[in-house]
Amino acid sequence: MIISMKRHATQAEIDEVAQRIEEFGYKIHTIQGEERVVIGAVGVGDVSACLEALEALPQVEKAVRISAPYKFVSREFKRDKTAIRVGQSVQVGGEEFVVMAGPCSVESEKQILESAELAAKGGAKVLRGGAFKPRTSPYDFQGMEEEGLRLLAKAREVTGLAIVTEVMSDADAAMVTEYADILQVGARNMQNFALLKALGKCGKPVLLKRGLSSTIKELLMSAEYIVAHGNPDVILCERGIRTFETATRNTCDISAVPVLRELTHLPVILDPSHATGKRSLVPALSRAGVAIGADGLIVEIHPNPAKAISDGAQSLDPALWFGMMRDLQPYMALWKQARQAESVATAH
Ligand code: PEP
Ligand code: MN
Repeated sequence: MIISMKRHATQAEIDEVAQRIEEFGYKIHTIQGEERVVIGAVGVGDVSACLEALEALPQVEKAVRISAPYKFVSREFKRDKTAIRVGQSVQVGGEEFVVMAGPCSVESEKQILESAELAAKGGAKVLRGGAFKPRTSPYDFQGMEEEGLRLLAKAREVTGLAIVTEVMSDADAAMVTEYADILQVGARNMQNFALLKALGKCGKPVLLKRGLSSTIKELLMSAEYIVAHGNPDVILCERGIRTFETATRNTCDISAVPVLRELTHLPVILDPSHATGKRSLVPALSRAGVAIGADGLIVEIHPNPAKAISDGAQSLDPALWFGMMRDLQPYMALWKQARQAESVATAH
């Protein structure tokens, strides 16, 4: 249920409503809008009786049922898009298209510092790099772990870029939270519910990647786990899904971007690198991402992809990276105009 309070409702009146909802067995989640307070209520109870009781209160403007199984992340719950602050000066889901770039894995101090400089010079605002790597084979490089996190923090210090890095287990959540500005949940962990619950309490934004064979509804239910456990700052990421097609590493479900925009207020970014597995295809998909209205991109780049320990084939070399960012400029300018027009329209 969503309960919109009347404009000038006092705190005591809001508390009275909250208490009534809790008496019906629901948990509440309050958002302070610009004009009014909206209370979200979730749980199992007698919805009709609760709605009736609330509508009888004079301080309640409207009480409605949310039909989507994911409540807090749904558009029904919050009509306006959510913009998420990352680090000191970046916002994902706002009026800037945000590019995140960096190597698949943190490999050495030299490699991550060089990558960070390339990322910043190309116009990225966030540096990616895995310190904990989910690898299909247990014999492949598993990541530099805490040493990798320290190197990412050093790269942030040098370049001013924010850091996004993967957390694979709830046991590592506290450690990764200490270093990262955004905690990434990889495709293989999208339904690791213990991890999702832990990230509900981490206090930093989460980048939730769509699972290899997950539906959009399942992605949103996973986002709901994080939000319901206390963290509203979730960025969704389409990174390609598994189909019968073998020409690309995964099949990029580009329509997931506008579908998600209809269903949720959370920001959505596109990962053209894991979606294709092939560097020559990354610029075209990146353009598609900007054109279709994603809030940003997460792209793999490497100072020397031939030497990369993981995902070299899909990593852009410096020339391709700079060329792609230059070619994206006119698309990003149009994106910005469209976004500004939209926020003017929603303000009216
Ligand atoms: C990655 O970002 O390097 C990664 C492993 O991505 P995904 O979880 O989407 O496969
Ligand atoms: Mn990778």
